[in-house]
Amino acid sequence: RFFYAPSFGIYGGVAGLYDFGPTGTALQQNLISMWRQHFVIEEDMLEVDCSIMTPAEVLKTSGHVEKFADWMCKDTKNGEIFRADHLVEAVLEARLEGDALARKAAGEKVAEAATPAADDKKAKKNKKKGGPVVATKLDDAVAEELRSILAQIDNYDGKGLGELITRFDIRNPSTGNEVTAPVEFNLMFESSIGPTGQLKGYLRPETAQGQFLNFSRLLEFNNQKMPFASAMVGRSFRNEISPRSGLLRVREFTMAEIEHFVDPLDKNHPRFDEVKDVEVRLLPGTVQLAGKTEPITITIGEAVAQGIIDNKTLGYFVGRIYLFMMAIGINHDLLRFRQHLQNEMAHYACDCWDAEIKTSYGWIECVGCADRSAYDLTVHANKTKEKLCVRETLPEPRVYDKLVCETNKKVFGPTLKKAAKPVQTYLETLPEAELAKINEQLLADGLAKITLTGTIADGEHTITKDMVDISTKTFTEHVREYTPNVIEPSFGIGRILYSLIEHSFSVRADDEQRAVLSFKPAVAPFKCLILPLSNHASFEQPLRDIARRLRSNGVPARVDDAASASIGRRYARNDELGTPFAITVDFQTAQDQTVTLRERDTTKQIRGSTDEIIVLVKDLVSGSTTWDDVLGKYELVDTATAADEE
Ligand code: AMP
Repeated sequence: RFFYAPSFGIYGGVAGLYDFGPTGTALQQNLISMWRQHFVIEEDMLEVDCSIMTPAEVLKTSGHVEKFADWMCKDTKNGEIFRADHLVEAVLEARLEGDALARKAAGEKVAEAATPAADDKKAKKNKKKGGPVVATKLDDAVAEELRSILAQIDNYDGKGLGELITRFDIRNPSTGNEVTAPVEFNLMFESSIGPTGQLKGYLRPETAQGQFLNFSRLLEFNNQKMPFASAMVGRSFRNEISPRSGLLRVREFTMAEIEHFVDPLDKNHPRFDEVKDVEVRLLPGTVQLAGKTEPITITIGEAVAQGIIDNKTLGYFVGRIYLFMMAIGINHDLLRFRQHLQNEMAHYACDCWDAEIKTSYGWIECVGCADRSAYDLTVHANKTKEKLCVRETLPEPRVYDKLVCETNKKVFGPTLKKAAKPVQTYLETLPEAELAKINEQLLADGLAKITLTGTIADGEHTITKDMVDISTKTFTEHVREYTPNVIEPSFGIGRILYSLIEHSFSVRADDEQRAVLSFKPAVAPFKCLILPLSNHASFEQPLRDIARRLRSNGVPARVDDAASASIGRRYARNDELGTPFAITVDFQTAQDQTVTLRERDTTKQIRGSTDEIIVLVKDLVSGSTTWDDVLGKYELVDTATAADEE
């Protein structure tokens, strides 16, 4: 139904690039506007829209040029490329499935959890991806070890994956050929800016960097007040090694990212109490490292109190992400939050929780929620020498003593000559304890020796008592200066959209051919279908009037007057698009200006005047009334006599 389709299809398409059709585009827009309402508007975030093309220097500083990579290996004979962790995962899963089959055949009882993807489509796909599933019993200890490896597969780096490939003789499943040791492959698309080609650039791999680089402007815009959050919705690009699973792993996708800037000494959140009782399913790192995948159900408040989630701000966002998922219609039982393992964590993060949604492809990371500490602001500030920090006037001045070194300019400069400046910098930045040691030597021997490295005057230098004065001084500080930490919830809109389609999909109990997408009205691409009972000419005017009135009330409405299809068929094909309401114009309309209103999931209908039905639809779409309320107030129409279903 053209929710989405491969881009450039008539040229054969390119893996990992998709176009959204009218339905998918409307669905995506609705998700984004609900996201903006839930986060940007309700939390008063500062939304920005920054450049996609990014100079290489920025991404070098952020660490992406060096570290934004996946591990890749190649079939040694035909050159086929694999993402190393996916290959290992698929092959080991296929072996465990083979083991389960052999055990079942031998009459052994096999726990469903023992086969990673036992019944779902992923298992069928693995048969191809991980090779044919052959019923081969493994030793109990080997099977247990494979399960444990799979539970923490994301924790392996290239070396670890290479060892697994050798140890378990993992080969290309379709050829049986050996594969090479994993090598790093950078995921960024490289480009050049301007006609000379000398300014190297990349398409951004995330929307975060633009928000960091504008930190000082944002802080000023926020009247220097902390904490605050910025947000951005936009395209990001990643040259995935092997794009697959439709929208789940693509090379160009829409992200919605929040950067919440917070005082590192106070990671409380002013609205934490609003989410503390929200119950979520968590899969902490400790559980995964024990080789288990069973989540715990716990409130956000308890999870933070027990130190499972590192701090209140991170906990607050886990709670808010959960509430957003519920608001758009994700199934509660198919959502969990998984903590990143140490090696899996992005190069900048110090704690990270992924919102994972279960689909027929298994558990899919849809939102990453990371504590990026002060990493980004610090590296950009160091590189550019621009201050990216907060200066806060202290309520009470801070008075403290500190051991400091002052130089006696008359002797210091002339004695050390060109080494004077580096030696001075060394002494001024030395930790207090080391300075104290130098002072002791000066007092005892009259001189001390220091060694410089990485300066223009590397080597040993001697300082004498008359060159410096090292003593304790009292300081009064009125302003505290600090680099904020950043908590970053990062949403992949395409993955959420796809998962939502799966969770909303069902077929009618009485007819498997009739598919329904039970989108909530706020999410549904089209809110109201308007259709005539037949293609009688007298229906045309009321149809057009109703459509115009709905649209001018902000309700996206579509007319389906295809004469060739029965009314039941037309209801059915709009159920497939997830359109929640349908207004039908029939012969009675001309007599008394009434129409019928049908709801998609119940297929029940009521009748009312055109005026009241239009108001009802508007209220149903905005959420100010529900279909249950409507059913309580109106009599049901007998569909056999009115706008017949078939
Ligand atoms: P990350 O910065 O890697 O944590 O990614 C943030 C979010 O972007 C993830 O949670 C996904 O929802 C989404 N995402 C990342 N890579 C892809 C991809 N190749 N295709 C679609 N969505 C992606």
